[in-house]
Amino acid sequence: MKIGILGAGQLGRMLAISGYPLNHKFGFSGNSNDEPSSLLGHMFALEDDADNIKHLIEFADVITYESENTDVEIVREINKNTPVYPGEKSLFTTQHRGREKTLFDQLNIPCAPYQMVNSRQDLIDAVEKISLPAILKTATDGYDGKGQFLMKDASQIDDAWENMNGVESILEGFVDFKRELSLIAVRGIDNDHKYYPLVENIHHDGILRLTIAPAQEIDPEVQKTAEHYMQTLLDEMNHVGVLTIELFETDSGLVVNEMAPRVHNSGHWSIEGANTSQFENHIRAISGMPLGDTTPTNEFSAMVNIIGKIGPTDIVLNMPNTHLHLYDKQERTDRKLGHINITASSAEELYNSINKLQDFLP
Ligand code: AMP
Repeated sequence: MKIGILGAGQLGRMLAISGYPLNHKFGFSGNSNDEPSSLLGHMFALEDDADNIKHLIEFADVITYESENTDVEIVREINKNTPVYPGEKSLFTTQHRGREKTLFDQLNIPCAPYQMVNSRQDLIDAVEKISLPAILKTATDGYDGKGQFLMKDASQIDDAWENMNGVESILEGFVDFKRELSLIAVRGIDNDHKYYPLVENIHHDGILRLTIAPAQEIDPEVQKTAEHYMQTLLDEMNHVGVLTIELFETDSGLVVNEMAPRVHNSGHWSIEGANTSQFENHIRAISGMPLGDTTPTNEFSAMVNIIGKIGPTDIVLNMPNTHLHLYDKQERTDRKLGHINITASSAEELYNSINKLQDFLP
């Protein structure tokens, strides 16, 4: 099949790399020829032609996207003639924190208490209802902790509201969590579901730095609960492709933070760490192929993000069971430039390897 991807970043790049062995062809929409996907398929450059999407549609049998910030109107238009997966409901819901939380409530999936905020007065009311500490977040377009303000006391109301620049926001009660986890799953066109194990995510300054897969000491009941939430969401949205949910593990159980209708940074370990990677499974799902086995290939895996500077990659290349993935991006502060995957047969081996990669971790 010919697969069109809206976007041309590292996710598109890794989707294409996993899809070529399945005999698919790829096309991307993007703004320049130096994006991570540029040399991996046809580029339908946005700046060349106002009708660029038309050319991508003409090329593609099926279309997917890299980001939940993709324009829903464009997806609706494309879908009149060419299937787009995940579908409109998944995209529309996940690109707005308020719509996402409304769906969690509707499906009895636990999440932090929240109130939508459109004015300074709304914020005052929300603080009263939710109480502090709480986090004020922009309703849309947030990523890597951007567009967020941690409120500890009511004297911060003006600062917090000014920080939002007047855009629609959401105040969320602060969750006292033990760990941050995520669950990645894939649903096929024929309603088949497959789940990866829960993984643990460690962030620094709002950016994911390290994923441990599977998360250690997870009670099978906790995995089951997370899969139940996931299945409910996949079915409700009639989702096709990979879906990611980010969760907080608390003393009183799992609390869902947010979801993404796409392959996710916390699933990059699956390239070498699972029988079928999240990328291949997304491609299988949207092209109507049977889903691949998600079982881990090793007892332990980890993923270390390469952020801002490429760093001493020779260290990585000289280590056994360690794999370098670079995205062909220029160095820039806080930019995701690549990642390192580690596989190991014991926790000791895994942590020894992570320790050797200290140059890549804050
Ligand atoms: P998000 O953009 O929603 O993923 O938030 C970025 C990071 O902020 C998360 O990974 C958490 O570390 C933290 N965070 C977000 N929401 C909450 C919350 N309601 N309570 C506590 N910490 C949070």
